[in-house]
Amino acid sequence: MSAPRSNKTKVVIVGAGPVGCVCALAMKKRGHNVVIYEARSDPRLNRNGKDTLRSINLAISARGIRTLKTLDYGLFERIASNFVPMQGRMIHSLKGEQTSVKYGLNGESINSISRLELNRLLLEEVDRAGVEIKFEYKLKSATFTSQPESVYETSRPDRASREVKVRSDVIIGCDGSHSKLRYEMQKACDMNYSQVFIDHHYIEMVVPSANDGGYVFNPNHLHIWPRKDFMFICLANSDGSFTGTLFAPRQLLDSLSTFELFLEFFRTNFNDALLSMGEELLSQYYKNPRGKLMSVKCTPYHYRNIAIILGDAAHSTVPFYGQGLNCGLEDVRVLMELMDKYPSQKAFSEYSIIRHDDLVAINDLSMRNYIEMRHSVSTLGFAFRKKLDAI
Ligand code: FAD
Repeated sequence: MSAPRSNKTKVVIVGAGPVGCVCALAMKKRGHNVVIYEARSDPRLNRNGKDTLRSINLAISARGIRTLKTLDYGLFERIASNFVPMQGRMIHSLKGEQTSVKYGLNGESINSISRLELNRLLLEEVDRAGVEIKFEYKLKSATFTSQPESVYETSRPDRASREVKVRSDVIIGCDGSHSKLRYEMQKACDMNYSQVFIDHHYIEMVVPSANDGGYVFNPNHLHIWPRKDFMFICLANSDGSFTGTLFAPRQLLDSLSTFELFLEFFRTNFNDALLSMGEELLSQYYKNPRGKLMSVKCTPYHYRNIAIILGDAAHSTVPFYGQGLNCGLEDVRVLMELMDKYPSQKAFSEYSIIRHDDLVAINDLSMRNYIEMRHSVSTLGFAFRKKLDAI
């Protein structure tokens, strides 16, 4: 599109996750007519919103913050007020010793935020900016002639028909790892595509605040229990709780088939975490749904000047570098800069060219960082501690 072809181009965004919302705000700011179609219901109307969204929290770093700051809606300040800064990793040994390894010499930090809270703040901003969001509209198919035509299935009771056809000038797929728009674009353009599942799954659990409302661990660290083939991590939430995530090989998790086995596994490997969580709490978690982890690479990301995919839809990564969302937010900034730069129809094709190497690099680094997090940090961390002790 360039900036899309006229000043008031109709832009359809598929997916109201964080990347879809930020992209909608950026496009609206450029004067376009933007509508978002989202498969799920509005998480703000659901008192149990945690049931409909993955409950994990996320680390936002400089890459993502740079994009949020370009939006000019005072949005960054509102989001940042929910940040819990983490200035380093806290490595927990088997004996329960804790070693702090700072990220930088000058207090640099990454920032933990609840996914649900982030999504809520973004949706509120999208409403305020006058972008229409159609919840409970799931993209089923798309074709791309001179204009994209997308078809959605909805179960909304206020709709007579279950299927809705939408024509737009541009369609942007921000519909996550299993992107339907990506699938449809693969048929239209010669898109190279690869998808790899890793053998490790994850289970999440909430570690509530202490009885006095305070944190059970130091909140300003990313807590890691590295155990070579698996690891447990905890990131603080602004309400005093932590979100804990166990990453382990599928077969190992399969073998923890009863609560007694799960408890014994925690007692042997993460005893200090278990003491903070309590055995009773752990009993609620061993049956929690397991998440799979995959890496997606594809190229190009666009079809002519009418369709493009951003965020996880284009480059789902394993989460060990904490850069999946940060990169998705960066996608939006890079695309907007190209749209502002090229008055012609070159922005989408330029994007595919200049973005690919960086996205592949982050994807590969994320894979490599799993070994760093679950193993190398323990050797590095304790070597560092020994050095400090020797000073
Ligand atoms: P999503 O958040 O997946 O949103 C996609 C949206 O599209 C959803 O709302 C979905 O309902 C909607 N949708 C899907 N299909 C359709 C359809 N057919 N029609 C309409 N709507 C549809 N990243 C970081 O930067 N830092 C971290 O610390 C971090 N930690 C992570 C930890 C874990 C355990 C995991 C799994 C991921 C982590 N990530 C992290 C990655 C991050 O979660 C993703 O990169 C980010 O959520 C991608 O945002 P998105 O908007 O592209 O996709």
